[in-house]
Formats: sequence, structure tokens, C-alpha cells
Amino acid sequence: MRVIVGAQTDVGAVRDHNEDAYLADGPFYAVADGMGGHRGGEVASRVALEKVTELTRDEDEVDLAEAVRSANQAILEQAARDRELAGMGTTLTLLRTEADRVSFAHVGDSRAYLLRDGELRQLTDDHTLVNRMVREGKITEEEASIHPHRSILTRALGVEPELEVDLGGQEVRVGDRIMLCSDGLTGMVPEPRIHEVLSTTDDPQEACDSLVREANAAGGQDNITVVVLDFAEGEPGAAETAEGTHLTEQVRVEAPKRPTDTERAAAPPRAEAPSRWRRVAIWVAVALAVVVVGLVGTRLYIDTQWFVGVSDERVALYRGIPTEILGYDLFSLVEITELSADRAGQAGIQWQELPEGITASSEEDAREIIRQIEDDLRPRP
Ligand code: MG
Repeated sequence: MRVIVGAQTDVGAVRDHNEDAYLADGPFYAVADGMGGHRGGEVASRVALEKVTELTRDEDEVDLAEAVRSANQAILEQAARDRELAGMGTTLTLLRTEADRVSFAHVGDSRAYLLRDGELRQLTDDHTLVNRMVREGKITEEEASIHPHRSILTRALGVEPELEVDLGGQEVRVGDRIMLCSDGLTGMVPEPRIHEVLSTTDDPQEACDSLVREANAAGGQDNITVVVLDFAEGEPGAAETAEGTHLTEQVRVEAPKRPTDTERAAAPPRAEAPSRWRRVAIWVAVALAVVVVGLVGTRLYIDTQWFVGVSDERVALYRGIPTEILGYDLFSLVEITELSADRAGQAGIQWQELPEGITASSEEDAREIIRQIEDDLRPRP
């Protein structure tokens, strides 16, 4: 069996940059739909496919789930390096053709379909909130298709280090057609119409182009990406492209234009929240540690300090420093002497500072000051 490939990606009719990307590098095929403010979405989908390409180039026996997890890691690492990319994420539907079957790994709401004997079947599950609600019987398929939050993902690359990856397989025969697509197609073109176009358009590239056209005609509210694989009679070998197709840029991304906050950027709160909150938590912990070390250090320092001051109009011994911070005294009274502070102040010029506190470097030092005051107040012959 040989594989004939068509592929197309398009910015759509509304968005001003394309965050989708695809890979058509037989035997590996993939669609990634990026999300995230600034350039995040474009970077995330591209990083994912580049990571996959890198892994598949280096090794023959690539574990698809591992490839997806490595892509997840690569996105997290890049997001950690660049603040502007924080919170970026992507879907990834990665498929490998084998002798008479395909294997796939999948995260997100991009889809893989099989068209066989005139029947269209979705091979992947959407990891979306609405799909979960449908499964739980809370809403119907019809309600899901028009739900305002239908693009909120429950799983994506770039969210957490741990990533659950769906794995699947499908035996394939001559005449089968597999389509990978982003939700820019399935969100715009009803499935029966997708089915019709795929069933009636022989050339895989033409099928891709038609589907992209239809999605744009229906509003083109999102980026649209379609990859079609036809399984035909013949020797297995490098995948062929349909006539007129140029897949020289196998990882295809359009150049960034001005950044916008797209619906998808705002849509997956789970995609944004954990990394940001983790970062906030780390800084809060660091700040707390600094404060704690500061407080402990200050406390230790204060406890070694002494001064002689006034309490109840008498000379007194204090531990700490003669000041307060935010209403908290940084000293404690140790002892009140019999000596009158007033008289001490008059007795010697050096004792006039008593009300402010005369600092000492040790308890002994402080007691020596008190002895000197006593001396000065002692009636002289
Ligand atoms: Mg999309």
C-alpha cells in the first residue's frame, strides 16, 4: 500500500495570524492547533511539531506517546524561558502509518477521521469541556456544537508536566482515507458536509482545499488545517503528494502578524492558570523566605542589644533597641532602678539622652551605664 497526501492550512477569514501547524513527513502526520496570547499559539504548535520531527528523525522506533510528552516538555521549557509565551499550549494529533495500519497519539480537540466504504468515523475523542458534558449526559451533541464554550479544552500540551495521552490504532486497507484536521474545520463545517466533500473529491489535495474553502465560506472564524491521507494500491514507500501539492515546508506555519488575544487564547483557563500560579507561588514562597530570614535575623540581632532608658520616670534597663516598627516595640523592659530619670538628666549632660535610650553593646555594658548614673547622683562631699 502506498500513501498519497494532501494538506492545507489557512488563517481563516477572521483571525490575523495562523496558530495551526501541520506535519506531513511520511510516515508521520500531525495537526497542532496552538493557543496563547502574543505569539504563544504559533510558537506552541510549531515547537510541538519540531520536537516530533526531531525525535522521528533520530529514531526509527518512536513511541508516539513519548513523542507527545517530549513535545509537551519542550513547550513548557520554552514558556518558562520567555515570559511572553507563558501559558501557551497546543493540541496535537500525531499519526504514524505502518504496513497495514496507522497508530496515533492524541491530545486536544483536533481530530482524526476514517472514511471507509462511504462511512465517516471519528477516531479521536475531543478533550473539551462540552464533550465531557455530552458524555455525562448534561447536554446533547446539538447543544455542544453551538455551545459558547465549545473550544475550552480539558487537555492540551503546555499545561502541566504530566500529560495524559490518548493512544489509538486502526488497520487500514486500500481505498481508506484518513483526515486530520483542526477545529477550524469541524467548528465551521457540519460533519455531514465534511463527509460529503471527502466522499466526492478523489484527489486528496483537492479535498483539503475544498474543505478549507467551505470553512471560510461558513465564516472562517478560526484557523483551518486539513491533512488527508489516501491509502492506495502499490509499493509502500515514501508518501507521495497529490498532484500539484508542494509539501516542501513540512511544518507549515504562517509568519506572525500583529498579536491579538484570540478567543482560544482566553478560552482554556486551565492552560494558562497552572504555570502562572506555579510561578506566583514560587515568588510568594521566596518573598516569605526573605521576610522570615529577615525577621529571624532582626530578632537575633535585637536580642543581643541593650539600652538604658526611662520607665515610670525612673532609669530602666531594656533589652532590644529603643525604637518601634509599625507600632511594635523592638525592646522589652528588663528592670526598673530606684534612680530618678529626671535627676539623672540634670546630673550629667551625657544622661540627657535617657528618654531616647542610651544604647549599649551588652547587658554588662548597660549595667555599667546604670552604675555611672548612680555614681553621678551620689551626693558628693
Ligand atoms: Mg482552532
